[in-house]
Amino acid sequence: MPERRQVSKTPSCVDWKLVHREPLPTWITPSGRTCLLGDAAHPFLPTSIQGCSQAIEDGCALATCLALSHADPTISPHQTVPTALRTYERLRYERVKEAQKGGAKVRDMWHKVDWTKVRQNPELIKLPRADWLMLHDCERSVRRLWRHASVEGTPLKREWLAAGPESDETLYRPEFPPTPVLTPKEELDRRLQ
Ligand SMILES: Cc1cc2nc3c(=O)[nH]c(=O)nc-3n(C[C@H](O)[C@H](O)[C@H](O)COP(=O)(O)OP(=O)(O)OC[C@H]3O[C@@H](n4cnc5c(N)ncnc54)[C@H](O)[C@@H]3O)c2cc1C
Repeated sequence: MPERRQVSKTPSCVDWKLVHREPLPTWITPSGRTCLLGDAAHPFLPTSIQGCSQAIEDGCALATCLALSHADPTISPHQTVPTALRTYERLRYERVKEAQKGGAKVRDMWHKVDWTKVRQNPELIKLPRADWLMLHDCERSVRRLWRHASVEGTPLKREWLAAGPESDETLYRPEFPPTPVLTPKEELDRRLQ
């Protein structure tokens, strides 16, 4: 077996535990002034190949929510940050949870391989690259959903959240015009008016 020959030439191996943790019930403090993002909010199994991607999406979504919240004249100044953080969590939570579950599915697929079947059909152990996961534009999605998601209690349909194959093109319909993010200069002008 080539694998055995390779391992026999390795002077030492690291027993790197893959520690699993269930999704946290929330990423934000009760006051809504502090939040988690990236691995601190949602550790991923390496088989998801998504930890970094989702951390970057979190950062982008959070920054977009903060910009939109600051620019929204209907939100009082002391509610700007809590509204942004709660909306960030509402828009990200289900998607990230589904991506985490995908890592467990791939782990099971790769760790319980029936090599006889795989030799006949190598597709059986191919890493899935679903469009809902790989082609999501998180900034555009936040900007389109902001008006719905920033109002607490407004229902959000699951298919809007890019949280599985049922994600649809709803976000590109006219009822979701993108909320523009102001440039820093436009924002300053708005405040000085
Ligand atoms: C071997 C390996 C392969 C991977 N491959 C992929 C991949 O192919 N695709 C993918 O999307 N993801 C991959 N990941 C996952 C990805 O690296 C992580 O999900 C990502 O780095 C998480 O980013 P983060 O900013 O949340 O956390 P981190 O990158 O862990 O950043 C946290 C930072 O905080 C610092 N820190 C910690 N405590 C303190 C403190 N008290 N004060 C100040 N600073 C502190 C740390 O030093 C660190 O720099 C892989 C991970 C590993 C280990």
